[in-house]
Amino acid sequence: MSDLHHLSIAQLIDGLQSQHFSSVELTDHFLKRINTLDKDINSFITLDEDGARQAAKDADAKRSSGADLANTPLLGVPMAHKDLFCTKGVLTTSGSKMLHNFVSPYDATVVSNIRNAGAISLGKLNMDEFAMGSDNESSFYGAVHNPWDTSRVPGGSSGGSAAAVAAGFVPFATGSDTGGSIRQPASFCGLTGMKPTYGRVSRFGMIAYASSFDQASTIGRSAEDCAYLLHPMAGYDPRDATSIDREVPNYVADLQAAAEKADADKPFAGLRIGVAKEYFGSGLDSEVESTVRAALKQYEDLGATIVEVNITDPEITLATYYMLAPAEASSNLSRFDGVRFGYRCEDPKDLADLYTRTRSEGFGTEVQRRILMGTYALSAGYFDAYYTKAQKVRRLILEDFKKAFESCDVIASPTAPNTAYELNTALDPVTMYLGDVYTIGVNLAGLPAISMPAGFNQAGLPIGLQLIGNHWDDSKLLTTAHLFQQHTDYHTKLSPVAQTGV
Ligand code: GLN
Repeated sequence: MSDLHHLSIAQLIDGLQSQHFSSVELTDHFLKRINTLDKDINSFITLDEDGARQAAKDADAKRSSGADLANTPLLGVPMAHKDLFCTKGVLTTSGSKMLHNFVSPYDATVVSNIRNAGAISLGKLNMDEFAMGSDNESSFYGAVHNPWDTSRVPGGSSGGSAAAVAAGFVPFATGSDTGGSIRQPASFCGLTGMKPTYGRVSRFGMIAYASSFDQASTIGRSAEDCAYLLHPMAGYDPRDATSIDREVPNYVADLQAAAEKADADKPFAGLRIGVAKEYFGSGLDSEVESTVRAALKQYEDLGATIVEVNITDPEITLATYYMLAPAEASSNLSRFDGVRFGYRCEDPKDLADLYTRTRSEGFGTEVQRRILMGTYALSAGYFDAYYTKAQKVRRLILEDFKKAFESCDVIASPTAPNTAYELNTALDPVTMYLGDVYTIGVNLAGLPAISMPAGFNQAGLPIGLQLIGNHWDDSKLLTTAHLFQQHTDYHTKLSPVAQTGV
């Protein structure tokens, strides 16, 4: 059973049910891979071996006891969490020195929901500090290496989540997406990443970056695997005022039913895919463009119709995001002051010194930059010119999307303008921000979106296709990706690390 890490979630569930392997065996398999191979990837910040083994034993005992398993569809299946989900009793750092010693007294709702569904957390995954970044190089715990080419970045900020799945260390993982943080690493690591509609998943216990954008997300090797994880995560939570009380469809059953119903040759008959020229502008790598256009042609061959739509100029969208997200971040991060939890500077002279040195020493450069930008935008005299104006533009961006969805069902685009770049490229901040140009509109508008593999460049690096849905079309998006994956094999390709046995 050396290739358990190649199995899909459906196959893992099947194997556990038919007792081909136990949860303890499965968990040991993944832990052994992590212990042997993660030194070259650095995807985990904390590995919870004891907790995982105990949970696996309990899962096996529950299965053999003959208990009703209807509410535990993921019983005994391993996974891991991005290190911004609070986990009771296990370190939660958000990739920062500021939280290097923070053990949460409670679980995030996402964490307890997934545990209640029976899944087993192996630990906590590396990420850009406070989820600010696009290459995972701002983590206090070191950069993460891309399993497709370990000299390259995995993307970010959910870089640890993407690298761990692409390396075969966990079958799927949680992440978060504030401006593209699940979709862009999915694109860089040849995976499928799903950012749900804003309000679909509780933010309670998820360390905030920009609260009106943040949404917990899933990353796996296929849309079907993402659906298995999204289903227990989703739902109303009275502890998050922005979570929405709306029925949760069974994403897995929906996608399987759609696959059964679909025409064998033209599964996308009737589907209108919107393509916006704004998403194919300057700065787009030519291999990314040709690969995405070829994938769109495949959709057409499988019955879809391509329609032209317009969305807001991505440069305006980018400027709006980089005004509002840092503003929210500067407010959210004011709670880290060395008083109640986390890092505290040594021997403070007085209270002002405590605050100043704690925050100067505890936050990295990118986080400090964002706090400065955000504080500036919110300060008296500038508030209306920057913050209020950006809020107005945010509304217009949403209206442009709404208008586009009058003539199409989903909008397709490249996920990122480029493929995974070399580590230590030391991009200047603005160049890095430009990499988010295709993903952030979705977050400004609160829409669901998915990134899935659409091919590879000459160097063998994965390229992602983004599909954007209208509000609450999460299930439709997963299905649109799943049917494509039933007719193509890009998502089945494995990184060199995933092909390495231990
Ligand atoms: N790269 C974007 C940023 O740095 C998005 C990050 C995210 O989605 N958390 O803000």
